[in-house]
Amino acid sequence: MSGTSQELYRIRRLNARECIRCGKPAEPDIQSCKACRDKLNQLSRARRDGRVEQGLCERCGVAPLEDGRQCLPCREKYATWRRHFLKRTKARKAMYSKHMRSHLKKKGRS
Ligand SMILES: [Zn+2]
Ligand SMILES: [Zn+2]
Repeated sequence: MSGTSQELYRIRRLNARECIRCGKPAEPDIQSCKACRDKLNQLSRARRDGRVEQGLCERCGVAPLEDGRQCLPCREKYATWRRHFLKRTKARKAMYSKHMRSHLKKKGRS
């Protein structure tokens, strides 16, 4: 009895590639098929448009619009988050390359 775990793995993989909404084959990298994703996108866009039409922030839907389609707190929050995210990504990249360099050095000495 060999290959059982491999078979299981393949089934699991197949399952993961099914749309979580309708069970049709999912697009790579997302957990739903194209039709479901488009529908979801449309829905969320309609919701955002509705908020903006009412003069409310498209992000939180509670605060009045300040500038463009978002309220000021949301704009600031997003800017902070983005800055934070970029900084973290950079730091992680730097750490990784440092780690790899030290790893290579150690390996090369033997
Ligand atoms: Zn689907
Ligand atoms: Zn907001």
